[in-house]
Amino acid sequence: MPYPVADCHCDTLLKRFMYEREMSWDMVTDGFEVTKDSMRAGNVALQVHAMFVPDTFRDMALRVALEMMVDSYQLEMDHDLVRVDGPDDIEELSPEQPGFILALEGSLPLGTDTKLLPVFYGMGVRVLTLVWSRPNAFCDGVGNERGLSEQGIKLIRDCEDIGIIVDLSHASEATFWDAMNSATRPMLCSHSCCSKFSSEVRNINDEQMQALAEAGGMLCIAFFSGFLNGTDKASIADVVKHIEYAVDIMGPDKVGLGSDFDGLPFLPTDLKGPEDYPAIEEALRKTGMEESTIEGVMGGNLMRFFRENL
Ligand SMILES: [Zn+2]
Repeated sequence: MPYPVADCHCDTLLKRFMYEREMSWDMVTDGFEVTKDSMRAGNVALQVHAMFVPDTFRDMALRVALEMMVDSYQLEMDHDLVRVDGPDDIEELSPEQPGFILALEGSLPLGTDTKLLPVFYGMGVRVLTLVWSRPNAFCDGVGNERGLSEQGIKLIRDCEDIGIIVDLSHASEATFWDAMNSATRPMLCSHSCCSKFSSEVRNINDEQMQALAEAGGMLCIAFFSGFLNGTDKASIADVVKHIEYAVDIMGPDKVGLGSDFDGLPFLPTDLKGPEDYPAIEEALRKTGMEESTIEGVMGGNLMRFFRENL
């Protein structure tokens, strides 16, 4: 039996939103990768679902986030999931009874201050990706220079006070280091890869990986071919390469999976969706990786991270 899987990022809620509005979206593949059946086939015990508001909806970001939040209750039913509110809920999860954690990707719906953060917590958000790649009132994302603003520093403090985990995927390098200097709790990179193998700006470098791990955080490896090898045709072997490297730099308990399913134009050619998690597990085994490390990377590490930090 494959190990239970925990995945730190997917864009299924966004895809559902786009489909409902009959909006075409050439950035991603057709159809859903994350479904009740594919999760079962892949032995998934925990899925983080992100609410991401695309720039087209910048002027109505709060409304769109709230619509996705409402839809997350429908998704919960459609996929037979249990919503995770706190650490105790993690204990109950298994591939037979998978759970989900609601994340907000990008702080755009918050506006320019942190006043609404408790509302998002109250409605179930447990992870906040500070910024999508474009700048917001709190910080810059990749491709831009600035780090955290005054409000950005306050946002991290408020997240820690309220109980929302800070996610640094998409953050500019300056934002990353400012966050490292401001935070007192472990943070995530929910869907990034190692810049060692692809200079794509969304990847993080060795120093960032080390600092993230030393602060108790985790890197969850994304499956976007561009992040993996800089082309649109990567393979599971590339995913394995990133995992092995991250384990080397960060330690066996600081690396997990952050697929980005339902949000990518190019998946690895031999990776179609959650149903292929067992193939990743098998590929890790072929490298001679220790079983305890494989179990951790596939899901054990992320489950423990949430148990300890939610
Ligand atoms: Zn993203």
